[in-house]
Amino acid sequence: MDMQPKQPVAGSGQADLRDLTPSQLSDYIVDLGLPVSRAKQIFARLHRPGVFDFSQMGISREVTALLASHATMSSLTPAAVEKSADGTEKFAFRLADDAMIESVLIPEDGRHTLCISSQAGCAMGCGFCLTGGQGFTRNLRPAEIVGQVLAVMNHMVANGIKRATPRELLNNLVFMGMGEPLANYDNLLAALTILMDDHGLGFSERRITVSTCGLVPRMDDLGRDIRVNLAVSLHAADDAVRSRLMPVNKTYGLESLLAACRRYPLGKKKVILFEYIMLKGINDSLADAHLLAEKLQGIPSRINLLPYNGSGETEYACPDEAQTLAFQKVLREAGFNTFIRQSRGADISAACGQLAGKG
Ligand code: SF4
Repeated sequence: MDMQPKQPVAGSGQADLRDLTPSQLSDYIVDLGLPVSRAKQIFARLHRPGVFDFSQMGISREVTALLASHATMSSLTPAAVEKSADGTEKFAFRLADDAMIESVLIPEDGRHTLCISSQAGCAMGCGFCLTGGQGFTRNLRPAEIVGQVLAVMNHMVANGIKRATPRELLNNLVFMGMGEPLANYDNLLAALTILMDDHGLGFSERRITVSTCGLVPRMDDLGRDIRVNLAVSLHAADDAVRSRLMPVNKTYGLESLLAACRRYPLGKKKVILFEYIMLKGINDSLADAHLLAEKLQGIPSRINLLPYNGSGETEYACPDEAQTLAFQKVLREAGFNTFIRQSRGADISAACGQLAGKG
């Protein structure tokens, strides 16, 4: 891996301004003795690609000096970028404490989706997932979550991708990288607030999807606190199978998970995305498909079937294509929008469940 200098951090007790939500930043700016009207300008300039220190923000010398003497501004620079044959790019970031995280940029028909990590490692221990196998290192700070977006935007601009505004560089942000986003709830919420603020990058709610393995109380919190799309990693319609694949199911079983989905506040024409990794002989029978259709009755749903990408590092295998198609047919006939999604970037270990942050 190409070694880069460590990322700058909020060191020596100074606030990292990229950790702060707009209202926190306003309070901070006022505490520094500046008028509150300055806060919006500073927030806007902080969340632009190509800005790595206060001198690049285009604000007055006095304010630049004041901020630089009291605060820091962290940013991420990729330690390595790998490109798949299908155009998918995987970014590895080494954080200040040497923790490694990864983000994945997925181009499709001129559009770009960025898959973001919310934790270094993951404590959820899903059996088919390399991140889970690696264990948990720590939660990411808001600046480290937002920093992935800005770093990838910087990379895109450096590679000649031009859009009228920075927000148009990335069409969708999906929290499906390393970690369970809802297990890092407060920092996730702060990062979403920063990413969605109109004075910053201004991502709209329909362009952000948060994926969870099923932390039921936090799903309720998310529905109450912010509007974003919800994805649920379901992977089985039977408690025994799901508990075997995903230890979280022993705490929040299918009944409570699906009840939380039913009460999740969805906007008009909105659905919950259910992800279902297809594992040969485990959860891929037609009886499983019928059970899944039965369990999801009444929930506005879209189902993505993800044939397991068979990294060879777990006990699982991918079903035959015919089996996956037959499974899809059962769900479609039951009225569910169901798609088979081939994992992208498998040759660079960027596919679903392959992110392991190897240093
Ligand atoms: S699938 Fe998601 S929640 Fe499960 S171990 Fe992997 S990263 Fe964690």
